[in-house]
Amino acid sequence: MTPPPATTTATAPPLEDVPLLRGGQWVKSSATRFGDVYNPSTGNVIARVPMCTTDEVNKVIETAAAAGPAWANKPVVERCRFLFKFRDLIVQHSEEIARTVTREHGKTLVEARASVQRGMEVVEFACGVPSLIMGQSIQNIAREVDCETIRHPVGVCAGITPFNFPAMVPLWMYPIAIACGNTFVLKPSEKVPLAAVMIGKLLQESGLPDGVFNIVHGDKECVDALLNHPLVKAISFVGSTNVAKYVYETGTRNGKRVQAAGGAKNHLIIMPDADLDQAVSALQSSAFGCAGERCMAGSIAVGVGDVASRLVDNLVEKAGKMKVGRTDEGGDVDMGPVISREHMNKVAGYIDIAKQEGATVPLDGRKVERVGDGFMLGPSVIDNVQCDMRVAKEEIFGPVLSVIRAKNLDEALALGRNCAYGNGASIFTRDGYAARQFKHHFNAGMIGINIGVPAPMAWFPFTGWNKSFFGDLHIQGTESIQFYTQQKMTMTRWFESAAESHHDPVWKQK
Ligand code: NAD
Repeated sequence: MTPPPATTTATAPPLEDVPLLRGGQWVKSSATRFGDVYNPSTGNVIARVPMCTTDEVNKVIETAAAAGPAWANKPVVERCRFLFKFRDLIVQHSEEIARTVTREHGKTLVEARASVQRGMEVVEFACGVPSLIMGQSIQNIAREVDCETIRHPVGVCAGITPFNFPAMVPLWMYPIAIACGNTFVLKPSEKVPLAAVMIGKLLQESGLPDGVFNIVHGDKECVDALLNHPLVKAISFVGSTNVAKYVYETGTRNGKRVQAAGGAKNHLIIMPDADLDQAVSALQSSAFGCAGERCMAGSIAVGVGDVASRLVDNLVEKAGKMKVGRTDEGGDVDMGPVISREHMNKVAGYIDIAKQEGATVPLDGRKVERVGDGFMLGPSVIDNVQCDMRVAKEEIFGPVLSVIRAKNLDEALALGRNCAYGNGASIFTRDGYAARQFKHHFNAGMIGINIGVPAPMAWFPFTGWNKSFFGDLHIQGTESIQFYTQQKMTMTRWFESAAESHHDPVWKQK
């Protein structure tokens, strides 16, 4: 859990620093530490991101808190009107956002466009908050006593996000939080801050009052400032498991509500009766889409019974034909680079680890052709993996698919029970009973049946289990409305005599 390295860049001419957003103003940070933002397709540095100091972050939090009361008092339908405008601006600028995502992250343009669409859908969901935020009431719960609940905002909320979805994951959080009447401080990943800033400019263009949405940048120091400030009431986090656990434990110890989504190790079960062509296509895009850098990426294919050898042959043939290359020029490639040189080396290292532990490697992605200094890795398939090997247990977060051979569905279910994570899992079968058994008994929070990436859309919660989630209320869907609001219950009783004393004409007639 060491902080990501922050280096000072000495590039000429000097790169522009990524600005902060504080109280409606884009300001230059006074930080003395900076990180490099890369174009992973070429390995070139494209921007410098400041590592905000605690004082700087505190000032932003205080600005967000000052904007809180007026925003919370604005009728919810008026709050949502800014989001309707914001949604249209995202649609209007979606290509520009997608290209920025591709440039700083490396995923293909097709993947980047899809991620912007998914993020925009959260704004559409948030536009419906007036219907979702309603309270409950019972008249005459006791004699002449009425009882109701209403939902209040919690105050300043913070969002801390990972590198793998620069536009989409931040959008999972703040549209809902601000629709619920909170103000927000976003800390995007220091590896990919550019799309978050671009979308922040669109939110400002929607006319949102100053201070309702703010952005800070940085690493552990910045995150700790958010975790420790008493005015921050709720934290949404998405990232690796160790950091998620740290954020959850520190935030809750400081009296905040925290939802922290962590890493994953997702299983894809292929039954002997599956439509193999369809299953292999789904596996290929699940494991190698976004270069495997998805928390819902398939990481382990479980070939059940006699399907395993055919599965491996098909996978190796199809994945071996994938075109890997730079994505920043919008070229016709199936897979782009991974996020950094360090990550590329780490992912490649798992192939040696697997061999040392006795697995075989029918497709080795290290043999890919590299363009310049891009962080390229091709797809890898590792076969004959046993459940106690490191590639079976650890999150790799790269284009590597391990294959475990299982005798039957029970053995496949046992793999889930022994897995520390619990994000997604899918089964490929034509048998309804097997699918039902899997749905009920696999130890993961998001299940796919003949679906490679069972990631829920905005209207449903992102229900990771085990070490894939720390907290009670998940991100997205109606759980997020609960997370970003606190309920107030009111019991009311009026006395007839009191009404008469006001000389109310209605009562007089009685
Ligand atoms: P990461 O944990 O390194 O970083 C996430 C955020 O935490 C960043 O904003 C970073 O600045 C901050 N951070 C990093 N180290 C920190 C520390 N020591 N103390 C405080 N803050 C720190 O994750 P990443 O590498 O950016 O993203 C990849 C991870 O995110 C993978 O594990 C992936 O599975 C996970 N992820 C999970 C989901 C989900 O919904 N479960 C979604 C997307 C990504």
